[in-house]
Amino acid sequence: MPDVIHKIIHRLTVAYLIGIVPFGILNFINGDILIGLLIAVICCNLVYIDASMHRKKTYNSTIAFGVLMPIVYFLLYQLVVDKGIIGILWCFPTILIVNFIMPQRQAVIANILTLGILTPAILTQFDMAVVIRMYASLIIVAALANLFVNIITEQHLKLSELAVKDPLTGLLNRLTLEDNITLAIQQHNRTLNPMTLVSIDIDHFKLINDKYGHDAGDQVIIEIATLLKQRCRSVDQVYRLGGEEFLVVLLNTDLKNAQSFSTSVQEKLTEINFEHGLTPTLSIGLAEIEKDKTWNECLKQADDNLYLAKNNGRNTIIG
Ligand code: GH3
Ligand code: MG
Ligand code: MG
Repeated sequence: MPDVIHKIIHRLTVAYLIGIVPFGILNFINGDILIGLLIAVICCNLVYIDASMHRKKTYNSTIAFGVLMPIVYFLLYQLVVDKGIIGILWCFPTILIVNFIMPQRQAVIANILTLGILTPAILTQFDMAVVIRMYASLIIVAALANLFVNIITEQHLKLSELAVKDPLTGLLNRLTLEDNITLAIQQHNRTLNPMTLVSIDIDHFKLINDKYGHDAGDQVIIEIATLLKQRCRSVDQVYRLGGEEFLVVLLNTDLKNAQSFSTSVQEKLTEINFEHGLTPTLSIGLAEIEKDKTWNECLKQADDNLYLAKNNGRNTIIG
């Protein structure tokens, strides 16, 4: 979930708690122990969702909704039956918060259920003129909240994609490298599954630019990026680190398999028909991740091997 949605959840939770806790206490004082307890469960649930979002950026929706929504329905129904219009007023913040804490489709279903479940109580208590206006205003609030969350989520996805992807090739860029590799290394340290970094640099790329222009150079970069993506599995990560340098993180892959991968990339490269009859080649340096090494140390080893590959006459794999 986008950070901004979490911020909204946090504020709504605080506002909701401030609004609902006094009613919970009042119910306990008045001897309505069941209602007081149910309000306490709702509060705990909201605090759980907020805290879990804060720590893990996600939460267990089965616990949250499996427990939360039936209680909410029950309380709202009781409120409408006992207190009439006051019960309806509580539907507004409920519909709003449901839109923010639930995935969109579930939120729509939950809100339709809210209105559906309350219908018998509403129809028996209010004039048709009031009922129509009540539903209209509740539906407008639900639709606007849904629209608002959709727009925020879409914008957030677009922005985060722009921030982490290289615009020329669509590969990941340097910004996400540290976080992703640190995570992958932590996973490696836990599982001891092998993992190898593949540092790749196009040979004599400057000559291509100088002779055929920047656009021809760009085209070579794009073709090689496409080739790398094709040769990788979905779990692997492919980065464009800068100009004509790439990094591939091969998960569950030891040095030997990374060598086969690199050889296959070099071979497939010779099968591509580049403009101007170009035949670019790649120098490749490998480094298998070793337990308790930092990502910087591993990356440096791959880069050192790439440097050796360049010194060995290029179009070579070292590692
Ligand atoms: P080596 O074999 O030692 O790697 O030599 P090289 O010519 O490939 O390496 P060098 O670092 O000398 O040159 C890299 C060139 O890549 C220089 C720079 O102008 C060019 N370059 C960097 N980014 C881009 C880009 O986005 N598009 C294009 N077309 N060229 C780029
Ligand atoms: Mg180069
Ligand atoms: Mg280079």
